[in-house]
Amino acid sequence: MVAGARAPRVHLWQVGCQMNTADTEALAEQFAEIGLWPGAALEDADLAVLVTCAVRQHAEDKAAGRLGELAKWKLARPGRAIALTGCMAAEHGGTLFARFPQLDYVFDVRDADGFMARLRDLYGGAVEGPVPLPAGDRLSAYVPVIHGCNEMCTYCIVPFVRGRERSRGVQEVVAQVGRLVEGGVVEVTLLGQNVNSYHDPNTGTDLAGLMAAVDGVPGLRRQRFLTSHPRNASAALLAAIRELPTACEHLHLPVQSGSDSCLRRMKREYTLREYRLVLDDARRVVPEIALSTDIIVGFCGETEAEFEGTMSLLREVEFDTVHVQAYSPRPGTAAHRRPDDVPPAEKKARLQAVLSLQRQISERRNRSLLGRTVEVLVEGRGAEDGRPYGRTRQNRVTWLERAAIPGSVVHATVIDATAWQLTAA
Ligand code: SF4
Repeated sequence: MVAGARAPRVHLWQVGCQMNTADTEALAEQFAEIGLWPGAALEDADLAVLVTCAVRQHAEDKAAGRLGELAKWKLARPGRAIALTGCMAAEHGGTLFARFPQLDYVFDVRDADGFMARLRDLYGGAVEGPVPLPAGDRLSAYVPVIHGCNEMCTYCIVPFVRGRERSRGVQEVVAQVGRLVEGGVVEVTLLGQNVNSYHDPNTGTDLAGLMAAVDGVPGLRRQRFLTSHPRNASAALLAAIRELPTACEHLHLPVQSGSDSCLRRMKREYTLREYRLVLDDARRVVPEIALSTDIIVGFCGETEAEFEGTMSLLREVEFDTVHVQAYSPRPGTAAHRRPDDVPPAEKKARLQAVLSLQRQISERRNRSLLGRTVEVLVEGRGAEDGRPYGRTRQNRVTWLERAAIPGSVVHATVIDATAWQLTAA
């Protein structure tokens, strides 16, 4: 790569989950630290970095498509380079160079120091860090607190690409939250593929303890956590949600299927009875809590009766939000060795059935809030009408029929509700 007088510019591109968002933000900090400008538009960039996902084939296809576009971008100006990291790097490693000859670097996002050292060598004296990070006006940030996953859900590639669980220390997390709040952030989401398995490596402090420490950061208004495993749900965690002023009343607890036999094939390690008990406890301890879940339809061997189990669980629990996806096999997982035997049309029909049922439930639950007062963290203004919008503590998108400044927290009365959002004045 050729470096000019200006700081070399990096264009960051990302797909996938919130963990990738957090990794991308961390990479931006590392680039700035060594003197590379991480906020460049593609046409101005010297280096394009793709933070990829391998959880679904669709995400890999997107990265492959982007690499195709970047091949032309690279040829348009000498000195440009392309790097790839994230889950595709972990899954495929150096074999990616043969598949995508335009690639210059593949590196492990969890251990980016070696890559940064190579960039420093390549640019020689042309880099002088740190450069200031692009000005941000974000109010919310993701903070990874535990990497990897020790579960072995049969459909999931995460344990193979992200490795075993490794928690960060409480003090390290609290220090990062403190820096984010100094930079204007008022809401953090503590992240992990199995976040409620968090344990400080030295003291053993659990997620509830970590949340208590994060709660002490002056200026922080809200904290959330994602994604929890039902079998790690604890009474201490529910108590933390109830008692800590910054802890939002929202629990995302993926159930994946409403049938015990399907859960066994998925190796989820809980029964529906156990799952229901956790939700009952959550609603008893935190009556205002919003519950959301993830569902997979059309998993290997899913019968009509098993799918009906999922539908009846949704009717019974009445989640506030449901994220549903049709099963797609991932090479390298245990489920990949099973026949993917639910026909695509049937998967699609089941997906639509879940969406349609949940739309009615979400609308009913949101409409039950009519006339109630909600606390809204104002996140911005609508592009078309300039109306302020934000989220409630239960994570419901809310439009405000009155003036409010982004970053402020307002209390407003719900005057309208649909399945997807509230309007409050
Ligand atoms: S708990 Fe989540 S990340 Fe871990 S294996 Fe299961 S689905 Fe994958």
